[in-house]
Amino acid sequence: MAVPKKKTSVSRKGLRRAGQHHKLYRKDPVGCPNCGESVLPHCVCPACGHYKGKEIIKSKAKNENQENVQA
Ligand SMILES: [Zn+2]
Repeated sequence: MAVPKKKTSVSRKGLRRAGQHHKLYRKDPVGCPNCGESVLPHCVCPACGHYKGKEIIKSKAKNENQENVQA
């Protein structure tokens, strides 16, 4: 069985976990093809509820957004 040669310091452990956090919340904002809102990849658009060209969530936010676009 492989054994770690050195103890993992608190600092190094923290850095590793922060890395996971940063990876998780890394922002590569992609413009929503429906409304142009910046959306995290693999996420439903919070503004209009669209994902992959389909409306996933029917919400009031969509209507409000459309009103904003018209105004
Ligand atoms: Zn959208």
